Amino acid sequence: MSEYRLLIGGKLVAGDQTMDVINPATEEVLAKCPRASKAQLDQAVAAAKAAFPAWSKTSMAERKKALNAIADAIEKNGQELARLLTQEQGKPLADATGEVFGTAAFFRYFTALDLPVKVLDDSEGRKVEMHRKPLGVIGAIVPWNFPLILMAFKVPPALLAGNTMVLKPAPTTPLSTLRLGELIKDILPAGVLNIITDANDLGGALTAHPDVRKISFTGSTATGSKVMAGAAATLKRITLELGGNDAGIVLDDVNPKEMAPKLFQSAFQNNGQVCIAMKRLYVHESIYDEMCDELAALAKAAIVGDGLKQGTQLGPLQNKMQFEKVKEIIADAKKHGKVIAGGDAPEQAGYFIQPTIVRDISDGTRLVDEEQFGPVLPVIKYKDPEDAVARANASPYGLGGSIWSSNPDRAYKLAVQMESGSVWVNKHAELAPNIPFGGSKQSGLGTELGEEGLAEFTQLQIINVAR
Ligand code: NAD
Repeated sequence: MSEYRLLIGGKLVAGDQTMDVINPATEEVLAKCPRASKAQLDQAVAAAKAAFPAWSKTSMAERKKALNAIADAIEKNGQELARLLTQEQGKPLADATGEVFGTAAFFRYFTALDLPVKVLDDSEGRKVEMHRKPLGVIGAIVPWNFPLILMAFKVPPALLAGNTMVLKPAPTTPLSTLRLGELIKDILPAGVLNIITDANDLGGALTAHPDVRKISFTGSTATGSKVMAGAAATLKRITLELGGNDAGIVLDDVNPKEMAPKLFQSAFQNNGQVCIAMKRLYVHESIYDEMCDELAALAKAAIVGDGLKQGTQLGPLQNKMQFEKVKEIIADAKKHGKVIAGGDAPEQAGYFIQPTIVRDISDGTRLVDEEQFGPVLPVIKYKDPEDAVARANASPYGLGGSIWSSNPDRAYKLAVQMESGSVWVNKHAELAPNIPFGGSKQSGLGTELGEEGLAEFTQLQIINVAR
């Protein structure tokens, strides 16, 4: 078994305690992992604080060089990181490989951005400039569904803007992040990026820490609201990327056979454990039966298994808690709808659930109204597209949504009525580093990615000079 260590002040250190990391495909212990104490969290914040004055004064060119070097290290060790990611997270190796190389690409993307001083007024009486300055120590908190790529929404822009960081992966998927820390520790000056792990017990302390200036958080809405409360006492800046219950709306002009594979992928990628997975699907009554049959056939044909095994399309759920939650939601859905594919967890080791399609179900049930975050999709019948949009919008969430039609103009008119941060037409869940991403309503606060995402790691300062 490899040894994993925390990264604090440029040094790889053991945790004050250890914890087991489980391989969700086998339920066996994959590795012993360090678990930081509150004292080690304080050391990490102190190291980041001490590193800030020098790092914030480095040039953008120097910081970009570091981001490129990190991308190089990720790519050089890509296969190893991908294997580890599959083992701890469960996703098929091809998807893990995509995540790892995507992470490197996100680091590189940010090297194309700058934070130029903007002149707002250059008149006889005054010169007014707008500067964007680093904030200080950033706490970055990441969930377990995409441990590396979601880290890359935060680390490259935060470092590029001149901040220093304490990064905390989720307790069930810390290994690829810790290994990455080991690989890049000499690229950055000591203390610029610190990595600690916990057993779900240090997020509150990091959020409340008086020396942390901003929390960049990705995770559930319930935890996001705790972060918001915890940040209040010190008026910390926060960016919250939270849960979603994305609706897809399929219009009557769609060919079910043609569109079903795309819809299936939108709902079941990463086993449905995607913040912007399509989590409820509204299908027009005229093509409802055919679409249900197509989706059920795809679900039955999907190969579920250990992500390391070649040919696996869907791995296990990531952790036992989520596995139990999804089973509970499926059991409830059986009372309100008709399961036409899947519906069971096979009697074997690993947190596996057969991809499940539920038809003849409607709003007002757990599966439709809650975020299932697993491989089960409710297919809901509708008559009137305007009503489908209203039902899609009648959710406390507002992360993403999609309209599917063979007529782009018709789809567009409905797309702009959706109350979500991102809306796609004839696709779902497409993200790119240059496209800003964020949730409306209870799906989040603020923006990640793109120039807007970079700006969120800065403090705006106006310099107003009399003439
Ligand atoms: P979670 O909220 O349970 O945990 C997320 C992170 O928060 C973990 O690192 C955890 O240790 C930490 N944490 C726990 N308690 C904390 C506290 N009191 N203060 C601060 N941090 C604390 O979420 P999860 O179950 O790991 O992830 C799944 C959820 O994340 C889903 O709801 C999903 O939609 C959401 N998500 C959102 C996005 C997005 O970009 N909007 C992306 C991915 C996942």
